[in-house]
Amino acid sequence: MRNISIEEIKKSIRDVPDFPKKGILFKDLTTAFKDPDILGKITDELVSRYEDAGITKVVGIEARGFILGSILASRLGAGFVPIRKPGKLPSQTYSVSYELEYGIDSIEIHRDAIKPSDIVLLHDDLLATGGTSAAAVGLLKQFQVKKIYLSYIVELSFLMGRDKIDPDIDIFTLIKY
Ligand code: AMP
Repeated sequence: MRNISIEEIKKSIRDVPDFPKKGILFKDLTTAFKDPDILGKITDELVSRYEDAGITKVVGIEARGFILGSILASRLGAGFVPIRKPGKLPSQTYSVSYELEYGIDSIEIHRDAIKPSDIVLLHDDLLATGGTSAAAVGLLKQFQVKKIYLSYIVELSFLMGRDKIDPDIDIFTLIKY
């Protein structure tokens, strides 16, 4: 494993105040991903956590979950499946709506993307309020998969996102604030 500490990964993440709106401190992971050693270390940490879990599909949440999600799929010898915003997937989908701070949003997955025999790793870059992830878990439950794992690079623990997610799902976050 590379000799890089969690502190160094933390330092590589850029804080952007008031993005996308006033009062939000945005954790910008592009500054971590652009550094090959940091990207490698984040990848190695997540791969080592799941390499013996028998993952057959990594499901990434649009759009930032696609970046590490597809690297993880490749490293774990699994397939990659996207969860996307409405109207983006070309074939038949399952769809779920969820509440945002203001209004409602939806996400979709192809109906033929997952089999009940799959062991799924759902990945997003960051866990905030948990609304998006809870909706994504709802989509995956339609497939009656054998097991679902959840992984994130960053968790904003003070937003209590975990509380929205089914307690028997295994959740891993590399960095907590
Ligand atoms: P949530 O549904 O509140 O857990 O929000 C999760 C999604 O919003 C993730 O896909 C993140 O990419 C994004 N997100 C929410 N809050 C932040 C933040 N403070 N910094 C960076 N990304 C965020």
